[in-house]
Amino acid sequence: MSKKQFKAESKKLLDLMINSIYTNREIFLRELISNGSDALDKLYYKSLQSGDSGIKKKDFFIELIPDKDLRTLTIRDNGIGMTKDELETNLGTIAKSGSQIFKSEEISDTSESTDSKAKKAIDIIGQFGVGFYSSFMVSDLVTVTSKAFNSDEIYKWVSSGADGYTVEEIPLNASASSFHKMKSGTEIVLHLKDDKDGENYSTYLEDYTLRELVRKYSDYIRYPIKLGDDTLNTMEPIWKRQKSKVKDEDYNDYYKSKFGDFMDPVRVIRTSVEGVSSFTSLMFIPGHVPFDYYSKDFEKGLTLYSSGVMIMEKCPDLLPDYFNFVQGLVDSQDLSLNISRETLQQNRQLKNIEKNLEKKIKRELEDFLKNDREGYEKFFGNFGRQLKYGLYDDFGIHKDTLQDLVLFYSSSEKKLVTLAEYVERMKDDQKFIYYASGESVDKIDLLPQTEYIKSKGYEILYLTDEVDEFVIQMAQDYKDKQFMSVLSEDMSQDETEEDKAKLAKAEEENKELLDYIKESLGDKVAEVKLSPRLTGSAATITNKGEISLEMEKVLRSMPMADSNQFQAERILELNPDHEVLSIMKKAFYESKAANTDDDKEGSGLSKVSRYANLLYNQALLISGLPIDNPVEFAREINALITENK
Ligand code: ADP
Repeated sequence: MSKKQFKAESKKLLDLMINSIYTNREIFLRELISNGSDALDKLYYKSLQSGDSGIKKKDFFIELIPDKDLRTLTIRDNGIGMTKDELETNLGTIAKSGSQIFKSEEISDTSESTDSKAKKAIDIIGQFGVGFYSSFMVSDLVTVTSKAFNSDEIYKWVSSGADGYTVEEIPLNASASSFHKMKSGTEIVLHLKDDKDGENYSTYLEDYTLRELVRKYSDYIRYPIKLGDDTLNTMEPIWKRQKSKVKDEDYNDYYKSKFGDFMDPVRVIRTSVEGVSSFTSLMFIPGHVPFDYYSKDFEKGLTLYSSGVMIMEKCPDLLPDYFNFVQGLVDSQDLSLNISRETLQQNRQLKNIEKNLEKKIKRELEDFLKNDREGYEKFFGNFGRQLKYGLYDDFGIHKDTLQDLVLFYSSSEKKLVTLAEYVERMKDDQKFIYYASGESVDKIDLLPQTEYIKSKGYEILYLTDEVDEFVIQMAQDYKDKQFMSVLSEDMSQDETEEDKAKLAKAEEENKELLDYIKESLGDKVAEVKLSPRLTGSAATITNKGEISLEMEKVLRSMPMADSNQFQAERILELNPDHEVLSIMKKAFYESKAANTDDDKEGSGLSKVSRYANLLYNQALLISGLPIDNPVEFAREINALITENK
């Protein structure tokens, strides 16, 4: 019997399958079971067409038979079977899906090394499968015996891989195998490779492995998958059952077993969509943060099924990043098993599904917020940061989706509030949505600037999360109300004409002093001015420009080459009514009148300069910013204490 060669492309793919180091070998079982299921579908269709009443769907099965002695795993179905010709053309030529892999852009880029091409090919295979050929990832000898429907002949196809295959006829009575009793069907015997290089092929002979793989990949195949007397698959997906027949408990149990969680989900979202892309989806919002959520290992995505057959465990394209905490699945009959076949079109389809799911999740969260505030706050504690990242991401284009889902702490309500609630409470004369950032609610509460705004009766949002201020800056406004940091100099926009006139007058009166202080501080500050809003404190730091003091703190904490480029433009604001200012003014004019520099002390600075530095440093400390030279600061204070001894 002469050996026949595989077609060129088939051979290439086979080489990849056999030789690559590849971790996802287990999908071969899904592929073979799915082929068996297709063969049963075809037989059923034929029986319907021909009116053959001898064929009964209830007799259909797929069977797994591990044999440890022979080191073989057999996958058998009583589907439509294959003739000699079909064996040759179907298994001798690679399926269209496979050749498509080589035509796909990623692989045909000639600038890449063969190695990285192989890697990519394998990645695609891993995600979508390439049918029968995956057998060679786990076996060194594959025997396919098949009896076509309405034929009495049995043929055997044998191949040990890339060097070709043989096909021979088996006499009907040649074997005692129960296979021969079947009207039609196919039996695939995989002789498993030896365990080596850390690869454990023997595991596919173990009942528990087979059970697990069927549960993982093929649970919802509509024909029984048998192992001995057991049926391994449930056959009816929970998301296909009538809604009224599924209890909350069922969803919870399903979620926990499928997604390996110990806690019930806080929300279950089930939807069915008919249309351009028809699909069913079942999604869950976990009750806690997965242990690897903030690590690189965390993979977002929903499990993707095509008519009940799993084609991808974590399909990332189905979820936007800001909803990456959602777990679940999508089942669509519009997706083919070999999704790479029509990559482009499929992608569009996935995009449609994603858009749809995004809306569903958003609506569910809104409902959650409205009807179970306590539960939502807990959820927000777990995943709120992700929503905030989403608001900030992509230059804020997801604002409409997310702005009503975020919560901030309110100075007046003393709890988390939504932006809508804030705006609802705004006073008639209030132009801005005020916010203040800081390390903690307590610390923000003590800032001189917040005192002032609170004294005017306005509510302030306290931003304590590092991302918060970036988010607010990106969003800019909410329902046409601009956000305004109480720590920013732009705050002056909010003053009355009367206040402004008063302040302008005071600035005029103190101009010489203020200029002198600015000169003393040099580049440390962009401006020195009087503040209308300091009550108790003598001085404070505000900022102008894009980067706020709070952002500067965050940026400083990042491992960047030159964090100094992210310095906020600082403004030293002084309290015109504070005694410190009048004392400084007095000292300034005294030394001016004396027209001497003999006021200079050990540091070589005049008294007013030294005071200016002290005020600047205390303002930094109050704002939670580091001071340049703590030792000098301490020495200056000591000098003050000992001055009048
Ligand atoms: P695909 O399933 O994507 O077409 P495969 O390489 O898995 O590619 O299979 C090639 C063809 O071989 C199938 O289309 C089918 O016609 C035939 N085939 C494979 N397995 C079986 C089976 N168990 N019974 C009948 N025909 C089969």
